[in-house]
Amino acid sequence: MRRKLVIGNWKMHGSLAANAELLAGLRAAEPFVCDTAVCPPYPYLAACVLALQGSHIALGAQDCSAHEQGAYTGEVSAAMLADLGCRYVIVGHSERRSLHGEGDQLVADKARMVVSKGLTPVVCVGETLAERESAQTEAVVKRQLSAVIHTLGHCVPQMVVAYEPVWAIGTGRTATPEQAQAVHAVLRAQLKAATPHADGMRILYGGSVKPENAASLFSQPDIDGGLIGGASLKAADFVAICRAA
Ligand code: PGA
Repeated sequence: MRRKLVIGNWKMHGSLAANAELLAGLRAAEPFVCDTAVCPPYPYLAACVLALQGSHIALGAQDCSAHEQGAYTGEVSAAMLADLGCRYVIVGHSERRSLHGEGDQLVADKARMVVSKGLTPVVCVGETLAERESAQTEAVVKRQLSAVIHTLGHCVPQMVVAYEPVWAIGTGRTATPEQAQAVHAVLRAQLKAATPHADGMRILYGGSVKPENAASLFSQPDIDGGLIGGASLKAADFVAICRAA
């Protein structure tokens, strides 16, 4: 039995005051039946660690460097995130892939670095609208996941996978539960070919998850929770999504 996991990806939103209010709203709604985490922008992680003391809500980061340490101006290492108390690190989000040119191998190297520091990489995969319309969805997500599987080797079970169709992110257009389940089943089969522990691994869905559609998505057999963007910025919405999990 897989425990559901709901992660909020705040992207480049927030302020000290707004984050404190949001986290107070989430804490007031604890406990949740599912595992939960929030991923604030880097500069706010330290303040969020303090605000989450004594809470079961875990902390994550939205990205990290593939390098251990050194002359990499502007980058943040996985070791620093571990030092701060993060549990999760999102890698390969489509906004990083498309806006920052991150390729499959770089994403895989980041995932390996995250695992090496004892943290859980949340590896995002997903097709664009053009790829879906030309029937390449399966090939694209398999290619993206395959790079990570090969790079992680025996550590594959330590990752969380997030299926995020690019056409559903921030667009208000959600994959139907059936569309999402079909891709999750493909990903599960790929994980099964790589590790005997695939049935215990969590595959999240992301892309315009809202309180209204969360329950039907999460009721699918291979959907183990969500990676939530826009709706994670309002306490009431994020709480409602966690309650649906
Ligand atoms: P969204 O974003 O929920 O705003 O569509 C999801 C994501 O990008 O992780």
